[in-house]
This record gives sequence, C-alpha cells and structure tokens, in this order.
Amino acid sequence: MPDLNSLPDRAPKAVAFDCYRTLVSNDHDDWRVMFGQIIKEQNLPFDQNDLWDKWRVCELQFRANRTVLEDTAQSPPFKSYEQAWSECFAHVFDAERVKADAAAAGQRCVEHLARRPVFPDTIPALQALIGKVKVGVFSNADDDSLRPLLKSTGIRFDAIASSESTQVYKPAPEAFKAILNMLETEPENMWYVGDHLYDDVQGGNGMGLTTVWINRTGAELGPDDAVPDIEISDLRELPQIINSIGK
Ligand SMILES: [Mg+2]
Repeated sequence: MPDLNSLPDRAPKAVAFDCYRTLVSNDHDDWRVMFGQIIKEQNLPFDQNDLWDKWRVCELQFRANRTVLEDTAQSPPFKSYEQAWSECFAHVFDAERVKADAAAAGQRCVEHLARRPVFPDTIPALQALIGKVKVGVFSNADDDSLRPLLKSTGIRFDAIASSESTQVYKPAPEAFKAILNMLETEPENMWYVGDHLYDDVQGGNGMGLTTVWINRTGAELGPDDAVPDIEISDLRELPQIINSIGK
C-alpha cells in the first residue's frame, strides 16, 4: 500500500469518473483488433501489429504535446481524437507510400471506442452512488465514442463532459472546472475517480479535488507519480468508503 494522504473527513456531494480503463476496459488488444478491421476494410498492405506500432509513435507524440500543463494558454489549438488519429494514419500511409483513406480509418477508431466492455463492478458501484451523490463523467474522448458508450450502460449520469465538448484534455484544470460547473459543486465537495496517475490524479490534485485511483492491476506508485488521496482496486469499494465517512 502506498503512503496515501489521509481520508477526507466528510463525504462528497459529487463523484466524477474518468471513463476508459476506469468504467470500461480499453487495452491494446482492443486496439489491435480494431486495426485488423481497418486493414481488412481498406485492403491495406499492413500486418495489424506493424500498422499499430507505426501509428502509435505518432499518436503518443500527439498525447505528449497536446497540453502545456505549466501554462495551458500555450497549448496548441485543440484537436479532436478523430482529427489527430486521422492525421496519424495519413502520416503512416504517406511514409509507407500507401494510398488509403486516413479519415475513414480515424472515424473507425472513434466508432470502435463506443463499444468497449463495461467492467463488472461499474454498474453496481454507480447504482449504489446514484441518489446519494451527483454522479458525472469527464473523459478525454470524442463525443461519438463517449455518448453511445455511456448510454449503453443504462445509468442516468447527472453530467457528462468530454474533451471534445469542452475543447480541453485532462490534466488541464479547465477540464475539471467544466465538470465541477456542470455538477454545480465546489472542489472540496467532489471526488474524481480515474486510472491514470497523470491525467486523473495529478490533474485532480491540482484542482484541490479528492482523488481516487482505481488500480485494478496492483501497480506500484513510482517516485515521480502523483499521490492519490484514496486507492481502490474495485469500484464497489467507493460507496462503502463514502458510507463509512458519512456515519
Ligand atoms: Mg482512463
């Protein structure tokens, strides 16, 4: 167990969640399957792992450069994932001298992300929270991925925001401000739950939220990692913790 900050002394009025790898699964194997489908649809001369590896280099560059956290006004103009991913396909196709439809490939990725398996603990955890606290989602995602995916859960969220709808990616503070405003809650009354120590925990800590790290794999915190207030391995721990504080 890492050296966590102490538990807050009062229960939250709102809990906001990250989506991918927090509420639903999204691993590299899902992406490789998707790349196999794109190759088949467009009859491309790539092995799916080869296309994934080449595309991924470009995609990681986009992620690394899209937000200047020290001064978010210096961040480059916002790009949706569909735009950025299409540009990465175009980059790989050009480099390999392959004629292909990069925009269609980028669109396929966004559509595919609307169909990810919901973790078994997600629905019972959310159901236990609804009616007790406001429940929201802020996801670094395009709306065409996020909205149908969350609708398929059958959960009535109090607020849903995406990077595309707010034109900002976590960990920028503006992302957390957007969901705080939508849930009409102050930072001291909101918990933010996510799997990612930079986007979710560092970003949430910077805004003064109580951060909850969902660590499904038993990962260890590194020396430079942001430290969450609370660590859980199953979302169903969350309503239990809130109930224990509320008493
Ligand atoms: Mg995530």
